Amino acid sequence: MEYSEFYKKYEKEHACCPRCHSRDYNITLVGYIYDPEHPENYKDGNSVRCHTCGWRGIKHDMVPEPEKMYWTLVCTNYKENTMTKEEASNLADRLTELCKDEKVYFYAVKKENY
Ligand SMILES: [Zn+2]
Repeated sequence: MEYSEFYKKYEKEHACCPRCHSRDYNITLVGYIYDPEHPENYKDGNSVRCHTCGWRGIKHDMVPEPEKMYWTLVCTNYKENTMTKEEASNLADRLTELCKDEKVYFYAVKKENY
């Protein structure tokens, strides 16, 4: 996977403060080595300080947006049969509606998980 493509995904997965889900933070700008053979080993160790709650940590410890975490939950429920395919689908559409700019991302996840 190209770095730019990988980083887009990585950024989405590590977009928010793990404590308060804010996206308002300071970050240092050190470059970390990306190995295209082992993208799973990538770890962005830049220091982050959340402006909203004061959390300090590294970029790698940040979490996806709550909508995305919720969406993961939807997929898990569907897989574990606590939700019908129709219910999961309807909820997916609602989540997509809530995050129009993330539409492509949601559909990608949807495809991956169904
Ligand atoms: Zn915070």
